[in-house]
Amino acid sequence: MADGAFYTITHSKVQVFLHCKKRFWFQFLSGHQWPPEAMNPPGIVGTGVHEAMRVLCETDDPELGRGALDRYLRMPAHESASEGTDWRRLAFELYEKGAVIHTSLGTPDAQRWAEKTAEFKHPAGGIVVRSKIDRIDRIGEDRWQIIDWKTGRFDQDEVTDAQLDLAHLALRSSLNRLVKREHTVRALAVNLRSPELPRVRELRRDDAADTLRYYTNFAAQMRANTDWTPTPGPFCNYCRWRPQCPEGNRDDHADYLDSFEDDEEEVAD
Ligand code: SF4
Repeated sequence: MADGAFYTITHSKVQVFLHCKKRFWFQFLSGHQWPPEAMNPPGIVGTGVHEAMRVLCETDDPELGRGALDRYLRMPAHESASEGTDWRRLAFELYEKGAVIHTSLGTPDAQRWAEKTAEFKHPAGGIVVRSKIDRIDRIGEDRWQIIDWKTGRFDQDEVTDAQLDLAHLALRSSLNRLVKREHTVRALAVNLRSPELPRVRELRRDDAADTLRYYTNFAAQMRANTDWTPTPGPFCNYCRWRPQCPEGNRDDHADYLDSFEDDEEEVAD
Protein backbone atom coordinates (compact mmCIF):
# COMPACT_ATOMS: atom_id res chain seq x y z
CA MET A 1 0.00 0.00 0.00
CA ALA A 2 2.75 2.45 0.80
CA ASP A 3 5.67 3.38 -1.44
CA GLY A 4 8.44 3.80 1.13
CA ALA A 5 7.30 6.69 3.29
CA PHE A 6 4.63 7.63 0.77
CA TYR A 7 0.94 6.79 1.10
CA THR A 8 -0.47 5.65 -2.23
CA ILE A 9 -3.67 7.20 -3.48
CA THR A 10 -5.62 5.71 -6.38
CA HIS A 11 -9.18 6.38 -7.48
CA SER A 12 -10.30 2.82 -6.77
CA LYS A 13 -8.66 2.80 -3.33
CA VAL A 14 -10.47 6.01 -2.35
CA GLN A 15 -13.77 4.64 -3.68
CA VAL A 16 -13.38 1.43 -1.66
CA PHE A 17 -12.67 3.52 1.45
CA LEU A 18 -15.79 5.60 0.84
CA HIS A 19 -18.06 2.64 0.06
CA CYS A 20 -17.10 0.09 2.69
CA LYS A 21 -14.46 0.36 5.40
CA LYS A 22 -14.47 -3.40 5.96
CA ARG A 23 -13.63 -4.03 2.31
CA PHE A 24 -10.85 -1.47 2.58
CA TRP A 25 -9.48 -3.31 5.60
CA PHE A 26 -9.65 -6.68 3.79
CA GLN A 27 -8.01 -5.29 0.68
CA PHE A 28 -5.31 -2.96 1.90
CA LEU A 29 -4.59 -3.71 5.57
CA SER A 30 -5.40 -7.33 6.43
CA GLY A 31 -2.50 -8.89 4.53
CA HIS A 32 -4.90 -11.65 3.37
CA GLN A 33 -4.31 -13.29 0.02
CA TRP A 34 -6.68 -11.62 -2.43
CA PRO A 35 -9.41 -14.07 -3.55
CA PRO A 36 -9.73 -14.54 -7.32
CA GLU A 37 -12.05 -12.10 -8.98
CA ALA A 38 -15.34 -13.43 -10.36
CA MET A 39 -15.83 -12.29 -13.97
CA ASN A 40 -19.36 -11.05 -14.59
CA PRO A 41 -20.62 -10.23 -18.12
CA PRO A 42 -20.60 -6.42 -17.70
CA GLY A 43 -17.03 -6.60 -16.42
CA ILE A 44 -16.00 -8.82 -19.35
CA VAL A 45 -17.58 -6.40 -21.83
CA GLY A 46 -15.90 -3.42 -20.15
CA THR A 47 -12.44 -4.95 -20.05
CA GLY A 48 -12.70 -6.29 -23.60
CA VAL A 49 -13.78 -2.93 -25.03
CA HIS A 50 -11.01 -1.12 -23.15
CA GLU A 51 -8.48 -3.58 -24.58
CA ALA A 52 -9.81 -3.06 -28.09
CA MET A 53 -9.77 0.74 -27.71
CA ARG A 54 -6.16 0.56 -26.53
CA VAL A 55 -5.15 -1.44 -29.61
CA LEU A 56 -7.04 0.96 -31.88
CA CYS A 57 -5.37 4.01 -30.32
CA GLU A 58 -1.93 2.41 -30.59
CA THR A 59 -2.29 1.17 -34.16
CA ASP A 60 -4.93 3.36 -35.83
CA ASP A 61 -6.26 0.12 -37.34
CA PRO A 62 -9.94 -0.67 -36.51
CA GLU A 63 -9.54 -4.28 -37.66
CA LEU A 64 -6.80 -4.90 -35.12
CA GLY A 65 -9.08 -3.51 -32.41
CA ARG A 66 -11.88 -5.84 -33.52
CA GLY A 67 -9.48 -8.77 -33.50
CA ALA A 68 -8.33 -7.95 -29.97
CA LEU A 69 -11.94 -7.82 -28.78
CA ASP A 70 -12.81 -11.08 -30.52
CA ARG A 71 -9.85 -12.91 -28.98
CA TYR A 72 -10.70 -11.57 -25.53
CA LEU A 73 -14.34 -12.65 -25.74
CA ARG A 74 -13.38 -16.13 -27.05
CA MET A 75 -11.33 -16.88 -23.94
CA PRO A 76 -12.90 -19.79 -21.99
CA ALA A 77 -13.16 -17.67 -18.84
CA HIS A 78 -15.32 -15.20 -20.80
CA GLU A 79 -17.86 -17.74 -21.98
CA SER A 80 -20.80 -15.64 -20.76
CA ALA A 81 -19.97 -13.11 -23.51
CA SER A 82 -19.12 -15.67 -26.21
CA GLU A 83 -20.39 -16.07 -29.77
CA GLY A 84 -24.17 -15.64 -30.07
CA THR A 85 -24.70 -13.86 -26.75
CA ASP A 86 -26.20 -10.40 -26.28
CA TRP A 87 -23.10 -9.46 -24.26
CA ARG A 88 -20.84 -10.10 -27.23
CA ARG A 89 -23.13 -8.07 -29.50
CA LEU A 90 -23.06 -5.24 -26.95
CA ALA A 91 -19.25 -5.34 -26.75
CA PHE A 92 -18.87 -4.94 -30.51
CA GLU A 93 -21.55 -2.26 -30.64
CA LEU A 94 -19.68 -0.23 -28.00
CA TYR A 95 -16.34 -0.75 -29.72
CA GLU A 96 -17.73 0.49 -33.06
CA LYS A 97 -18.96 3.67 -31.35
CA GLY A 98 -15.50 4.14 -29.89
CA ALA A 99 -13.95 3.59 -33.33
CA VAL A 100 -16.10 6.42 -34.72
CA ILE A 101 -14.75 8.74 -32.01
CA HIS A 102 -11.19 7.64 -32.74
CA THR A 103 -11.62 8.43 -36.43
CA SER A 104 -13.26 11.78 -35.74
CA LEU A 105 -10.33 12.82 -33.52
CA GLY A 106 -7.82 12.13 -36.28
CA THR A 107 -4.89 12.73 -33.95
CA PRO A 108 -1.46 11.95 -35.50
CA ASP A 109 0.36 8.89 -34.12
CA ALA A 110 2.93 10.87 -32.15
CA GLN A 111 0.27 13.01 -30.48
CA ARG A 112 -1.81 10.31 -28.78
CA TRP A 113 -1.22 7.83 -25.99
CA ALA A 114 -3.25 4.81 -24.84
CA GLU A 115 -3.68 3.41 -21.32
CA LYS A 116 -0.94 5.49 -19.80
CA THR A 117 -0.26 4.72 -16.16
CA ALA A 118 1.10 7.75 -14.39
CA GLU A 119 1.97 8.80 -10.88
CA PHE A 120 2.60 12.04 -9.08
CA LYS A 121 4.87 12.03 -6.05
CA HIS A 122 4.21 14.75 -3.50
CA PRO A 123 6.97 14.62 -0.85
CA ALA A 124 5.59 17.52 1.20
CA GLY A 125 2.22 15.77 1.53
CA GLY A 126 3.70 12.29 1.92
CA ILE A 127 1.53 10.87 -0.86
CA VAL A 128 1.94 9.38 -4.31
CA VAL A 129 -1.06 9.62 -6.62
CA ARG A 130 -1.43 6.91 -9.26
CA SER A 131 -3.86 6.93 -12.15
CA LYS A 132 -4.39 5.16 -15.45
CA ILE A 133 -5.56 7.31 -18.35
CA ASP A 134 -7.43 5.44 -21.09
CA ARG A 135 -6.49 7.90 -23.82
CA ILE A 136 -4.50 11.12 -24.18
CA ASP A 137 -4.60 13.35 -27.27
CA ARG A 138 -2.71 16.54 -27.92
CA ILE A 139 -5.44 18.52 -29.68
CA GLY A 140 -3.63 21.86 -30.05
CA GLU A 141 -0.35 23.64 -29.42
CA ASP A 142 -1.39 24.39 -25.83
CA ARG A 143 -4.40 22.08 -25.54
CA TRP A 144 -4.83 18.46 -24.39
CA GLN A 145 -7.67 15.98 -24.06
CA ILE A 146 -7.91 12.94 -21.84
CA ILE A 147 -10.66 10.32 -22.15
CA ASP A 148 -11.95 7.76 -19.72
CA TRP A 149 -14.04 5.15 -21.53
CA LYS A 150 -17.16 3.90 -19.71
CA THR A 151 -19.30 0.92 -20.68
CA GLY A 152 -21.70 0.43 -17.75
CA ARG A 153 -25.37 1.30 -17.60
CA PHE A 154 -24.88 3.68 -14.74
CA ASP A 155 -22.27 6.32 -13.86
CA GLN A 156 -22.17 8.50 -10.77
CA ASP A 157 -21.22 12.01 -11.83
CA GLU A 158 -19.34 12.93 -8.66
CA VAL A 159 -17.31 9.70 -8.79
CA THR A 160 -16.54 10.30 -12.47
CA ASP A 161 -15.45 13.87 -11.74
CA ALA A 162 -13.07 12.67 -9.02
CA GLN A 163 -11.59 10.13 -11.42
CA LEU A 164 -11.06 12.77 -14.11
CA ASP A 165 -9.42 15.16 -11.66
CA LEU A 166 -6.93 12.48 -10.61
CA ALA A 167 -6.23 11.63 -14.25
CA HIS A 168 -5.59 15.31 -14.96
CA LEU A 169 -3.07 15.50 -12.14
CA ALA A 170 -1.38 12.35 -13.43
CA LEU A 171 -1.24 13.75 -16.96
CA ARG A 172 0.61 16.86 -15.83
CA SER A 173 3.07 14.68 -13.96
CA SER A 174 3.67 11.99 -16.56
CA LEU A 175 4.03 14.28 -19.58
CA ASN A 176 5.45 17.23 -17.68
CA ARG A 177 7.96 18.03 -20.41
CA LEU A 178 5.14 18.46 -22.90
CA VAL A 179 2.23 19.74 -20.81
CA LYS A 180 3.27 23.26 -19.85
CA ARG A 181 1.87 25.29 -16.97
CA GLU A 182 -0.31 27.41 -19.22
CA HIS A 183 -1.72 24.48 -21.22
CA THR A 184 -5.36 23.54 -20.66
CA VAL A 185 -6.90 20.08 -20.51
CA ARG A 186 -10.33 18.88 -21.50
CA ALA A 187 -11.12 15.77 -19.45
CA LEU A 188 -13.88 13.57 -20.81
CA ALA A 189 -15.70 10.55 -19.48
CA VAL A 190 -17.30 8.95 -22.53
CA ASN A 191 -19.86 6.25 -21.90
CA LEU A 192 -19.88 4.30 -25.16
CA ARG A 193 -23.57 3.51 -24.67
CA SER A 194 -24.28 7.23 -25.10
CA PRO A 195 -21.11 8.86 -26.47
CA GLU A 196 -23.05 11.95 -27.54
CA LEU A 197 -23.37 12.88 -23.85
CA PRO A 198 -19.83 12.90 -22.42
CA ARG A 199 -19.06 14.21 -18.97
CA VAL A 200 -16.73 17.16 -19.63
CA ARG A 201 -14.34 19.01 -17.31
CA GLU A 202 -12.18 21.93 -18.41
CA LEU A 203 -9.07 21.91 -16.24
CA ARG A 204 -6.07 24.18 -15.63
CA ARG A 205 -2.88 23.77 -13.66
CA ASP A 206 -4.33 25.37 -10.51
CA ASP A 207 -7.09 22.72 -10.57
CA ALA A 208 -4.39 20.05 -10.37
CA ALA A 209 -2.90 21.85 -7.36
CA ASP A 210 -6.33 21.83 -5.66
CA THR A 211 -6.69 18.10 -6.39
CA LEU A 212 -3.31 17.48 -4.81
CA ARG A 213 -4.25 19.45 -1.68
CA TYR A 214 -7.55 17.59 -1.43
CA TYR A 215 -5.93 14.16 -1.56
CA THR A 216 -3.18 15.15 0.83
CA ASN A 217 -5.91 15.95 3.36
CA PHE A 218 -7.94 12.89 2.49
CA ALA A 219 -4.93 10.59 2.82
CA ALA A 220 -4.48 11.88 6.38
CA GLN A 221 -8.09 10.84 7.14
CA MET A 222 -7.54 7.43 5.58
CA ARG A 223 -4.36 6.86 7.57
CA ALA A 224 -5.97 7.92 10.85
CA ASN A 225 -9.12 5.79 10.43
CA THR A 226 -9.60 2.91 12.86
CA ASP A 227 -13.28 2.10 12.19
CA TRP A 228 -13.67 -0.85 9.80
CA THR A 229 -17.46 -1.20 9.99
CA PRO A 230 -18.99 -3.01 6.97
CA THR A 231 -21.44 -1.16 4.73
CA PRO A 232 -23.48 -3.78 2.87
CA GLY A 233 -25.02 -2.52 -0.35
CA PRO A 234 -24.92 -2.90 -4.12
CA PHE A 235 -21.13 -3.06 -4.18
CA CYS A 236 -21.25 -6.38 -2.29
CA ASN A 237 -22.15 -7.96 -5.66
CA TYR A 238 -18.73 -6.97 -6.96
CA CYS A 239 -16.72 -7.51 -3.77
CA ARG A 240 -14.12 -10.26 -3.98
CA TRP A 241 -14.21 -10.54 -0.18
CA ARG A 242 -17.93 -11.36 0.01
CA PRO A 243 -17.43 -15.09 0.74
CA GLN A 244 -15.50 -14.04 3.87
CA CYS A 245 -17.95 -11.35 4.93
CA PRO A 246 -21.10 -12.40 6.85
CA GLU A 247 -22.66 -8.93 6.50
CA GLY A 248 -22.32 -9.02 2.72
CA ASN A 249 -24.03 -12.40 2.54
CA ARG A 250 -27.15 -11.60 4.57
CA ASP A 251 -30.32 -12.99 2.95
CA ASP A 252 -32.45 -10.04 4.01
CA HIS A 253 -30.80 -7.70 1.55
CA ALA A 254 -30.27 -10.19 -1.26
CA ASP A 255 -33.18 -8.81 -3.31
CA TYR A 256 -31.87 -5.32 -2.86
CA LEU A 257 -28.45 -6.37 -4.07
CA ASP A 258 -29.84 -8.27 -7.04
CA SER A 259 -31.81 -5.23 -8.16
CA PHE A 260 -28.53 -3.48 -8.84
CA GLU A 261 -27.06 -6.28 -10.93
CA ASP A 262 -25.30 -4.96 -14.03
CA ASP A 263 -25.78 -1.36 -12.92
CA GLU A 264 -22.49 -0.98 -11.14
CA GLU A 265 -19.10 -1.24 -12.72
CA GLU A 266 -16.50 -3.22 -10.90
CA VAL A 267 -14.28 -1.13 -8.68
CA ALA A 268 -10.80 -1.89 -9.93
CA ASP A 269 -8.14 -2.65 -7.35
S1 SF4 B 1 -19.20 -7.99 1.05
FE1 SF4 B 1 -20.10 -5.96 1.22
S2 SF4 B 1 -20.07 -5.45 3.42
FE2 SF4 B 1 -18.64 -7.16 3.07
S3 SF4 B 1 -16.63 -6.23 2.77
FE3 SF4 B 1 -17.54 -6.52 0.75
S4 SF4 B 1 -18.57 -4.59 0.27
FE4 SF4 B 1 -18.18 -4.62 2.50
